[in-house]
Amino acid sequence: MAITPLMPVYPRCGVRPVRGEGCYLYGEDGTRYLDFASGIAVNALGHGHPKLVDAIARQAATLMHVSNLYGSPQGEHLAQRLVDSTFADTVFFTNSGAEAVECAIKTARRYHFANGNPQRHDLITFNNAFHGRTIGTISAANQDKLRNGFEPLLPGFKYAPFDDLDAALALVDEHTAGFLVEPIQGEGGVRPASEAFLKGLREAADSQGLLLVLDEVQCGYGRTGRFFAHELYGVMPDIMAVAKGIGGGFPLGACLATEEAAKGMIAGTHGSTYGGNPLAMAAGEAVLDVILEPGFLSHVEEMGRRLRGALEQMIPNHDGLFDHVRGHGLMLGIKLKSDSRAFVAHARDNHQLLLVAAGENVVRVLPPLVIDESHIAECVEKLSEAARVYVPAADD
Ligand SMILES: *Cc1c(COP(=O)(O)O)cnc(C)c1O
Repeated sequence: MAITPLMPVYPRCGVRPVRGEGCYLYGEDGTRYLDFASGIAVNALGHGHPKLVDAIARQAATLMHVSNLYGSPQGEHLAQRLVDSTFADTVFFTNSGAEAVECAIKTARRYHFANGNPQRHDLITFNNAFHGRTIGTISAANQDKLRNGFEPLLPGFKYAPFDDLDAALALVDEHTAGFLVEPIQGEGGVRPASEAFLKGLREAADSQGLLLVLDEVQCGYGRTGRFFAHELYGVMPDIMAVAKGIGGGFPLGACLATEEAAKGMIAGTHGSTYGGNPLAMAAGEAVLDVILEPGFLSHVEEMGRRLRGALEQMIPNHDGLFDHVRGHGLMLGIKLKSDSRAFVAHARDNHQLLLVAAGENVVRVLPPLVIDESHIAECVEKLSEAARVYVPAADD
């Protein structure tokens, strides 16, 4: 037997973290890393945040799981807080981002079914999108690397180039249910949609009875300096998938919707064994307490402004390597002129700086939202040093 006990689907690197503290990770061998990857935009409060740790420990000792057969005071409370702070009227809790997107897709289809239009089942989605790894969510993304060998995909999705409003509108027909889009593509390369594009989708949805479904799994929950990225655009969704930061490291996701959009989601239509269990709700409450503390989101915005400024100042010193910086708040991407994966590996292995590669040769800079100026200075110092000694492989 040559296969590893852990199914070998990830090309894992040599860093083997065993402990985290604030914005730092410690490897098996004691090496300390500055964590500007945050578990891919998940550890919003950094590692070992006392409020999150304490909430999980206390809830674990009180009540961990009961199933959705019973009433959920914990779920009702967190859902109410999310409803009070967003466009939404109702929330379904999941354990992951893909499940949140699945629920969003099902909610959109069910809306048209409830309206007597079951033929309106297609979502228009966008090239380079990432919505998760289930059969439904790889069907929603138009990417060979996600789908190779997993066909047949599910029908019900049509693909347009990202940020191309005319192309998206040209795909609308009598089968269209709505649009599914990330306001800022994450895996695709930290690509913010333009305001005209998102506003245009919203207008088309309004005028043609379609739904605007946003995937804010990566860009939501404070990452951009707003609670949700769509606030930057002044565009409200009908349905929205959330995950990653919402649990701060505890597996938690949510599908939020307006009352109108969720009209088909009646008793018996959807479910999850674990979704919204008391332990997950305790984690979600603790994260939300911190994110909604007065001043927290403006701290993210301010840190994002400073980090971006520092990166933009550094780039001209290494203009053979770095092209430009993009993104919002603490969801930043540095576009490279060579392979971003190779540079991420170099920064990690030689400079103990953790970043994440993304599409289009972008290096994602996704620090915990609780960073201060010292972490920004340390990151930029490590990055400059990494860039100074870096020699891209000849075939890049
Ligand atoms: C990570 C991600 C997902 C999938 O989340 P999982 O928790 O891995 O299922 C979906 N959409 C976006 C935009 C993401 O970044």
